[in-house]
Amino acid sequence: MDRDKSAKNVSLLLVEDTKEHAKYTRLLLEKQDYTVNVVPDEETAIETLKQREPDVILMDIMLGNGNGIDFCKKLRKGDKFANIPVILLTSSNDIKTKISGFQAGADDYITKPFKIQELTARIELSVQKKRLAESENRYRNFMQNLNDAVFMLNTQGEMIDLNPYAEKLLGAKKQFLYGNSLFQFFQKDFSREFIKNFETILTGKEVRGVYLRIKNVTGKSIPVEMNGFSRQENGSIIQVQMVMRDITERELLQQEVQRYTTLLEKQVEARTNELNETQRRLIMSEKMGAIGQLAAGIAHELRNPLSIIGASVYYLTRVLSKNENRKIGDHLEIIQNEISRSQKIITNLLDFSRRSSPERESADLNKIIRQTFSILERNLTNHDIETSLNLEPIPLCFINVDEIKQVLLNLLMNAKEAMPGGGVLKVKSHLHDRKHVVIEIQDSGVGMEKDKIEKIFDPFFTTKANQDGVGLGLSLVHSSIKRNQGTISVKSEKRDGTTFYVCLPVATT
Ligand code: ADP
Ligand code: MG
Repeated sequence: MDRDKSAKNVSLLLVEDTKEHAKYTRLLLEKQDYTVNVVPDEETAIETLKQREPDVILMDIMLGNGNGIDFCKKLRKGDKFANIPVILLTSSNDIKTKISGFQAGADDYITKPFKIQELTARIELSVQKKRLAESENRYRNFMQNLNDAVFMLNTQGEMIDLNPYAEKLLGAKKQFLYGNSLFQFFQKDFSREFIKNFETILTGKEVRGVYLRIKNVTGKSIPVEMNGFSRQENGSIIQVQMVMRDITERELLQQEVQRYTTLLEKQVEARTNELNETQRRLIMSEKMGAIGQLAAGIAHELRNPLSIIGASVYYLTRVLSKNENRKIGDHLEIIQNEISRSQKIITNLLDFSRRSSPERESADLNKIIRQTFSILERNLTNHDIETSLNLEPIPLCFINVDEIKQVLLNLLMNAKEAMPGGGVLKVKSHLHDRKHVVIEIQDSGVGMEKDKIEKIFDPFFTTKANQDGVGLGLSLVHSSIKRNQGTISVKSEKRDGTTFYVCLPVATT
């Protein structure tokens, strides 16, 4: 069975009207493992062809009611069976017949009587030719429709063939490109890169995924990814094939992704900073809580010895006034002043850390403002501060009265301290919306810069270190207002005074 492998899959159509010849030829061919179909005339031949295309047609020139050469002509002109190889069988050795056979499009001929070896050889040749043509056709089709650019180059790098996509890439028809070197279509650095890879291919190696930028005839720059390999014949390289993929879109996409990533990174960074800031504040307030507790403890402890010292100093003052020692008297006065300053700090600290009773009640806020204001009024006018109260009718507020008094006192004291040379202090109240009342405390004092405003609610922030300031007033104010479900905001300009806005909830009835 291994006798002739190539014959096994080859089918033949024998067009022969002489029965004995047909029978004899078929036997011979079948012995060689060919599949043979025999038909006597053109009509039957067409029918058979329609059913199954043979690899080769063997055609007798002299057919009973027709002529093999004419039939061959018809086949070649039609588009259906034009590619099937035809071998003419002729009994005449007449050169004219042979020529007309070839003109009709026959691929080969053989003179009867033939030797089977000769016939087999001719059949094999035709089959090979047909298969080669088919494979070349397939390849060409493939190239034509490929969405990649395919370049065939000779070993000098000159273009000898290219597919439509390659024409599109370079921006010119192949007639104008044949014989041109491909490397001139790359931008400077990439031209060098291309040549380097071309030389690699000439050593028989393949190159893959090489990034290059084409500069086409219109001057457009196109990014491509190149694969290349060589075609060899008898061990030597005859052609180089380059396949290039236009990666413009991929590149755009990558740029877009890159842009988006950068944006995202920036957003993440901003968000991280925000979080860090929040965390910093949180830690700060926790720390402050702890310090507050500690301070409260210490303050309590210090209160008693301070009172005792105070009492003793008082006693000494009385005794000494009898002896009239002025110098000692002065010192005692200093001690007394310092004691009262210390007591003030302690009171402040305790206020700050005090967990006051959470009791809130419906209260007349305007009344509280008036009361608090009256405590300080004398003090203010003594310091050349002109005051005005402008309180609109407002509903009752739901607040902790003690805490709000403390808040107002702190704000008024700060306002006073902001106007060392005198000025104007205005206090107003009005209904903000149906659920909130706003108190405005406006001074014409020194004002604040922006960076300072950001810090004033921090515990221990003070610009009055050389006076009595401990910097706890506003942080106390802030936490009190928060406990009362209110808010506080501030508007201030350097040298242009400051206004604090305290917003508090109206009592629901
Ligand atoms: P203290 O009054 O002990 O300094 P506060 O917490 O009451 O502490 O105030 C913090 C800081 O805020 C003050 O030192 C001052 O610099 C600033 N400040 C507060 N109120 C005013 C105001 N009305 N005008 C200008 N600065 C103010
Ligand atoms: Mg203060």
